[in-house]
Amino acid sequence: MEKSEFKTWKEKLFSDKKNGYDRLTDRELEAMEAYCAGYKAYLDEGKTERLCAAESIRLAERAGYRPYVRGMELKAGDRVYLCNRGKAVMLAHIGTKTLAEGAQIAAAHIDSPRLDLKPNPLYEDSELAYFKTHYYGGIRKYQWVTLPLELHGVAALKDGTQVPVHIGAAPGEPKLVITDLLPHLGQEQAKKPLGSAIPGETLNLLLGSRPIGGEEEKSRVKLAVMKRLYETYGIVEDDFTSAELEAVPAGTACDVGLDRSLIGAYGHDDRVCAYAALRALLDLEGTPEKTAVCMLADKEEIGSDGVTGMQSAAFDTFMEDLCETQGVPLRACYERSFCLSADVTAAYDPNYPDVFEKRNEAKVNYGISLCKYTGSRGKSGASDADAETVAYVRRVFDEAGVIWQITELGKVDAGGGGTVAMYMANRNIATLDAGVPVLSMHAPFETVAKVDCYETYLGVKAIYQAK
Ligand code: MN
Ligand code: MN
Repeated sequence: MEKSEFKTWKEKLFSDKKNGYDRLTDRELEAMEAYCAGYKAYLDEGKTERLCAAESIRLAERAGYRPYVRGMELKAGDRVYLCNRGKAVMLAHIGTKTLAEGAQIAAAHIDSPRLDLKPNPLYEDSELAYFKTHYYGGIRKYQWVTLPLELHGVAALKDGTQVPVHIGAAPGEPKLVITDLLPHLGQEQAKKPLGSAIPGETLNLLLGSRPIGGEEEKSRVKLAVMKRLYETYGIVEDDFTSAELEAVPAGTACDVGLDRSLIGAYGHDDRVCAYAALRALLDLEGTPEKTAVCMLADKEEIGSDGVTGMQSAAFDTFMEDLCETQGVPLRACYERSFCLSADVTAAYDPNYPDVFEKRNEAKVNYGISLCKYTGSRGKSGASDADAETVAYVRRVFDEAGVIWQITELGKVDAGGGGTVAMYMANRNIATLDAGVPVLSMHAPFETVAKVDCYETYLGVKAIYQAK
């Protein structure tokens, strides 16, 4: 075979995925930077699911979305949102076609791994005051010690009022920390496996050391801390019982790398896809043909259960309400809908090649990453999208010029994971996972590539606009 003929065949038959930087124009790179600046600001405002929901609503209202009220008449072009208990947000841009033709849905989650306070958190030991925590989601506990932390959340009082609590985020405010052993005394600890070296019950937040009252008194540091909280927030110890206070890494999102091609922050999983799903909806030009729906869910990191999770009937109720305005049965809408389950995936990390299978891994800068199935032990716990659904997304992305790749989450039997995809698919909605590849996922400081953030935005936008 001639050299040129060989080349022709190769070009015709072989997959030819390119690095995003070999495809994007200068103008696109500029748009990418602007998009990522908005994303970093979103991260800084939304460090918990409640804060992220509030910031999402603020952006939606600024873009002309208004709260949905049951019974409201809706026509093509109308844009509404509904907040579920302050922790999950559903938004819809009503299309020109009826909901009997299905909706184009993007679902992401806005909860991230963190340390929640226990219901009886406050104690004093050796004249130091602490909060007990119970971790939320899959964390590697050793990553959360000796790190400046902030505390955000609410205390719900018996009289129905809600007290927002924020410690450590404003400039100059003190931070909290979980201490660790010094290496000099850590020899036995260092022999333990990574997963058990830091027991969950040692993840106690250091709150203070300064006593009040006379030397003969007891619990002087604890009282000093409680008095401060009372003076600032009006809460007493029993109010922790009905509080949701979350310790999250302190600091703001920043560029990473000398070339600034990456973003480092807490909470990329899954606010990087949540922002893409939200921004793409808010940026839609004109009225989409099919109704575009953005679901920002809570509780994904602990299995999507609960009243604000993706398994909650809250989503069905919202969709059913929309359907009822058009006299369409919900089940008829669902069976013709499509959902992009927008969630992050593992980026190939050359530092740890052993857990990846290089031919089927998401590469940094290669764009939004489709994932036909997640799960573990032979795809267990995955919705495993059908070939037709994957073909549909390939077509939509290619027609819109979206840079995309396809991936698995690590080597066969190396581990695994899940997303909200199966809960959407179980509703009889054709669903495919797609999202941003992340380095050090679930760490207090995760890393993503700007190209992949931007292409995920373009990908979701293409889905909303698909016919
Ligand atoms: Mn996720
Ligand atoms: Mn996760």
